[in-house]
Amino acid sequence: TRRKLVAGNWKMHGLRAQLKEIAAIEAAAAAHPHVDVALCVPTTLIAAAVDHARAVRIGAQDVHENEHGPHTGCVSAAMLVEVGAQTVIVGHSERRADQNETSHDAWAKAAAARKQGMGVILCVGETEAERNAGRAERVVQAQIEKSVPEDADGDWFTLSYEPRWAIGTGRTPTTEEIASIHAIARAKLRMMVSDAADRIRILYGGSVTGDNAAKILAVENVDGALVGGASLTAEKFVPIIEAAA
Ligand code: 13P
Repeated sequence: TRRKLVAGNWKMHGLRAQLKEIAAIEAAAAAHPHVDVALCVPTTLIAAAVDHARAVRIGAQDVHENEHGPHTGCVSAAMLVEVGAQTVIVGHSERRADQNETSHDAWAKAAAARKQGMGVILCVGETEAERNAGRAERVVQAQIEKSVPEDADGDWFTLSYEPRWAIGTGRTPTTEEIASIHAIARAKLRMMVSDAADRIRILYGGSVTGDNAAKILAVENVDGALVGGASLTAEKFVPIIEAAA
């Protein structure tokens, strides 16, 4: 059976003053050893966050696909590992929108992270227009096909379904809609990596809060949550960890 993973994505939020939140989240994670907890913080906070975390895995929010080279402003997987990052988000819809990242980029970044021994959380999800056009399933299947590495397995790879229209909006799909996409994602993974598909966790992301977490985490094939806004404080994030326990 798959352990639940509750992962926070701080996005472009967090200065050193927020490290006290990590200390409080660490206490909750230590109290719930059957739940995996991760926090993907801004690059500038990774090293300091690692000092506050033991039960919580500290992760990054992006990585360059190359090992090194003339890429001003970019950070490699080896650099992230050196400061203590254990996992990284790739293919987030905000990077697809803001930096024009493609599913192929997400695939290459996942492979680069894997090569350095990092875990990967790869995000997929449809836009509101795609859902309204009845294309959500096909969009997610195509993203999975283009971005999931051929050697994906549960010990390092996690998929996250994040419908773009649910991110930061307070709106979520129904539990039936989540179940439907997660079942399709699982089936697609099975076609790509056969038995490993049953070991890969599939998270749901998009407006997860302490109030809706228990309901969402109970949906079949939902193996955890990727949480944005509600991961920024221990007060909001700890109830989600508790809901997964
Ligand atoms: P919110 O939880 O703020 O909707 O963000 C979700 C998300 O994008 C996590 O990666």
